[in-house]
Amino acid sequence: MRFLTLRDFDYRGKRVLVREDLNVPLRDGNVADETRLVAALGTLRALRDAGARTVVCSHLGRPDGKRDPKLSLRPVGERLAALLGTPVRFVDECVGAKVRAAAEGLADGEILLLENVRFHPEEEKNDPGFAKELAANAERYVNDAFGTAHRAHASTEGVAHVLPAAAGLLMEAELAALSALTDHPQHAYVCAIGGAKIVDKIGVFKHLMTKVDTFCIGGGMGNTFLAANGVDVGKSLRDADLGPAKEILELAAARGVAMLLPGDAVVSKALEDESHAAEALLVEPLGDRMILDIGEATAGVYADAIRKARTVVFNGPMGVYERAAYRDGTRIVGEALAEATRMGATTVVGGGDAAAAAHMLGFAGAVTHVSTGGGATLEFLEGKTLPGVAALEAAASAAQTS
Ligand code: ADP
Ligand code: MG
Repeated sequence: MRFLTLRDFDYRGKRVLVREDLNVPLRDGNVADETRLVAALGTLRALRDAGARTVVCSHLGRPDGKRDPKLSLRPVGERLAALLGTPVRFVDECVGAKVRAAAEGLADGEILLLENVRFHPEEEKNDPGFAKELAANAERYVNDAFGTAHRAHASTEGVAHVLPAAAGLLMEAELAALSALTDHPQHAYVCAIGGAKIVDKIGVFKHLMTKVDTFCIGGGMGNTFLAANGVDVGKSLRDADLGPAKEILELAAARGVAMLLPGDAVVSKALEDESHAAEALLVEPLGDRMILDIGEATAGVYADAIRKARTVVFNGPMGVYERAAYRDGTRIVGEALAEATRMGATTVVGGGDAAAAAHMLGFAGAVTHVSTGGGATLEFLEGKTLPGVAALEAAASAAQTS
């Protein structure tokens, strides 16, 4: 690893500023989905048990640099305390004298949560002065916010230049799992890719094109690829511009990468019309019907490819998994991922909806890793450098040379 980790410091009695990604959805002032809180527990427990005086910061939503009571982290702290089984103190600021006093009042093993860092416009501007103010609350910095690592903000990037900095356990696990997909992956290597649109994932196609042997394509983007191949997809959701699909198909052909497209599908006249959902072979015009999931035969072909693979990444559901009638394609692909994992393959699920589908359909626990990052995971798979990670690497090499 090119960055320091939790194991590289002794934290007892030290104030540690921990950047977590506690950006959870709220409903009526309560945490609606605690996945991100659960993901943060490892690092917070490790620091607590190591006797650190932990000061946690995060953003929540998009308050655009202004204080917004609806986006306070206070209720998130309450939920976090319940999950940790220890009290989490809260202070309604993230910089300044009040925070300093609260941080200095911590005993070994205690945890303090600061208010939403995005209440200050300087956070998203990565203002160096603001980074110093945040840093003034602690003697060490731990960045565990993988989901925000693609943003160069004061709490995710700037602080790493001020304090001795290390990656948290979640950050480390995410990077280890995702690196297996990009650095010397084992072959055969399959990317099952779906979701809404190609435009969101052009960069992923282009980067993984240099690594994978096979793409298994489904979802709304599958419709666009089919249309680019001249298939009549009726009223299916598809990108208006077929240019990117054609370009990706040409790139794959030139590289000898297999592009598996659906040969059959679950179709209906409307999303809501689940009772009339039917299997269709994609050989005749669909007319007023639309493709809402890959068909059984296609799912079988994809599952076969996945079961034979040593590395698999699953990004974007194969169909409209939110509805029962269009969920089987994603379920069958998920079951194949689980089977491949049991046979020793490295399997990673990435993308907000793909991860949600994995939890809903019960295969999240049966794969190597389910990534908690949305945009950060996509940018990693696009081969981009994540600023939050780059800052940790810079801090590690600065520590080595000093
Ligand atoms: P991820 O978050 O995993 O990257 P996306 O956000 O790109 O995935 O896409 C997920 C959305 O794509 C889901 O809401 C799903 O309903 C939708 N979708 C999948 N297949 C289809 C389809 N055939 N037609 C319309 N929408 C689809
Ligand atoms: Mg999504």
